[in-house]
Amino acid sequence: MNAPSQTDLLIVGGGPAGVSAALTAASLGMRTTLVEAERIGSKLYAIGALDNLAGGWTNGPQLAEALTADMERLEATGACTVVLGRAVSVGADEQEAQVLLADGRDLRAAAVVVATGVSTMGIADVDWVDAPGLSPLAPLWRTMPKALQECGRIVVVGADRPLGTWLRAHPEADVSLHVLHPESDRYKTEEVADDPRVHLEETTHATVVPIPGGVRVAAQRADGRVHTFAADVVLMNAGSKPAGLAGLYSDTDGYCPADAQDRRIMIAGDLKSARMQRIAIAMGDGQRCALMPYYERALLPSREGTDS
Ligand SMILES: Cc1cc2nc3c(=O)[nH]c(=O)nc-3n(C[C@H](O)[C@H](O)[C@H](O)COP(=O)(O)OP(=O)(O)OC[C@H]3O[C@@H](n4cnc5c(N)ncnc54)[C@H](O)[C@@H]3O)c2cc1C
Repeated sequence: MNAPSQTDLLIVGGGPAGVSAALTAASLGMRTTLVEAERIGSKLYAIGALDNLAGGWTNGPQLAEALTADMERLEATGACTVVLGRAVSVGADEQEAQVLLADGRDLRAAAVVVATGVSTMGIADVDWVDAPGLSPLAPLWRTMPKALQECGRIVVVGADRPLGTWLRAHPEADVSLHVLHPESDRYKTEEVADDPRVHLEETTHATVVPIPGGVRVAAQRADGRVHTFAADVVLMNAGSKPAGLAGLYSDTDGYCPADAQDRRIMIAGDLKSARMQRIAIAMGDGQRCALMPYYERALLPSREGTDS
């Protein structure tokens, strides 16, 4: 199946970057098809507190709902079609760009914006922890405090920034988070070090094995001593990895630099690089990606009645 007829731009990913690309493209008279694997703004639903976004947004769900309303409005006017599905690969030749979905659908248009962001690192991605038989583990940032109500000690793997966001978003959460982290995460622990709910443990290597009712942890410290303890639950907080697609050029770290791709393939948002992962930057990227084919008219098919 091709994208709905006369699609100018395919967009993969319905986060801040993808939705901004669709809105900007619509404002320029371009028709888009947006592919989303989960739901519009999916990541934003788990951001409990926002304080760096112009416009008075104070939490992620509020923004996600506004982005969903934007897409519904674009769909109602015919400017954009939203396709629910998981893209697996992207490609381009001189004439067009192509996106393949996991269910076999084949979408084509003049150009494509890939804005698939990043996904949470699983336990298998972390080289300083062995956890045989424990995958997959839920990410802390997607876990609601009420799911942890009955838990005693909770092990958190990694001290990445979402730990601070989660604690600020849930000041009422009565939890005991035992945070295992490597030395390289030490600078990130400053913002949570004074929170009485957090117990930081720097480790060179940890082993986590399931036992009845929970897990047993053996955390080795830099001086060689091993701290062994039991816990009820393990949650991931070790950072993110790029959620790229087959067919994209990626650096050794897996990220997909925008300027290294085929000219019909544009990259927006968190997928570009491990740095600068912010909502406003993703939105600006999405806009820029929609403007590029508009200015570079050779990328778009000529259509009767279109302004020159
Ligand atoms: C806990 C947490 C707190 C944060 N707090 C802040 C903050 O306070 N301020 C701030 O500016 N930023 C914050 N961020 C970062 C911010 O969420 C990201 O920078 C922003 O969401 C990036 O937007 P994006 O559109 O590039 O990617 P995303 O928002 O990740 O959107 C990507 C979309 O693509 C979809 N997708 C992925 N793969 C596929 C596929 N193969 N096929 C189809 N669809 C796919 C996903 O389902 C998702 O909806 C936070 C992030 C986290 C995790």
